[in-house]
Amino acid sequence: APDVIGLDIGGTKTHGVRWNAGVAVAEAKSGSANVQNVPPEEAARNLAELFAALGGHADRVVAGSGGVDTDSDAEALRVLIAQQVPGARIDVVHDTRLILAAGAASTGIAVIAGTGSVAWGMDAQGRQARSGGWGYLLGDEGSGYWMAREAVRATLHRFNRAEPVGVLGESVLRANGVQAPDELIALFHGPYGRRYWAGQAHLVFDAARAGDSVAEDIVNEAARHLRGLVGDVATVLGLRSPVIIGGGLAVHQPRLQELLARGLQEDGFSEVRFLAVDPVHGVDYLLRSGSL
Ligand code: BGC
Repeated sequence: APDVIGLDIGGTKTHGVRWNAGVAVAEAKSGSANVQNVPPEEAARNLAELFAALGGHADRVVAGSGGVDTDSDAEALRVLIAQQVPGARIDVVHDTRLILAAGAASTGIAVIAGTGSVAWGMDAQGRQARSGGWGYLLGDEGSGYWMAREAVRATLHRFNRAEPVGVLGESVLRANGVQAPDELIALFHGPYGRRYWAGQAHLVFDAARAGDSVAEDIVNEAARHLRGLVGDVATVLGLRSPVIIGGGLAVHQPRLQELLARGLQEDGFSEVRFLAVDPVHGVDYLLRSGSL
């Protein structure tokens, strides 16, 4: 039986698992190797670190990655992976495919609410549809990055109106080590990337729990955006279940889960599941079900 390495390449991290004759024998994490957001040298470095931690060569690699929108995006990533495992058979798929597979489903709608956001679905005829997932500059509404950016924007709005910046504004200032809201502007355009800001999305949930109404609005708006992505895919495919939701934000924020579960129920989606296992485990399902 072949030695297989599965990769889940998100906007913030890369998660790898090695299977030996179908049994998971090693697991490791490194920084992102998403070719949309990370320079190729950095992606290559993170992949090298990960493959070393997983014990080097494998016969087959299956990578689910964000930022893979065209065949040439997939090819660019495939080339980087091939440098680590010369001669291996390499499949590159979009990260949403791992979500559905990790939920042991071959048809349905997958949603990611993590550093970025997206929905994608596949029906029994193999027809596929996707909504969103355009990356942080063009979209990713309802993602961790989007929430943190909205928090910064809301703080600046309050500042413009000479209002107190509120619980949310105070925590954003504190988290970034600055005193005045206008200092956030240079910081946002400056040294830190999307992962840094996406990592602050939890401040919005915390402030919403503390009763900050602007933070509550951002949380509600995020859930609305994510519901919209699911609705788009459902309309295109004429498919309503299951809806399987993964990504750091969705997995770690009970309030978002609550809003999505309730909202999607209202929208007529009767089977909504939050992923309980890491998406990389979807690789095993894709191989076992002969989907690649
Ligand atoms: C990327 C998508 C990805 C999504 C979720 C977005 O930033 O553009 O390709 O599916 O994040 O990881």
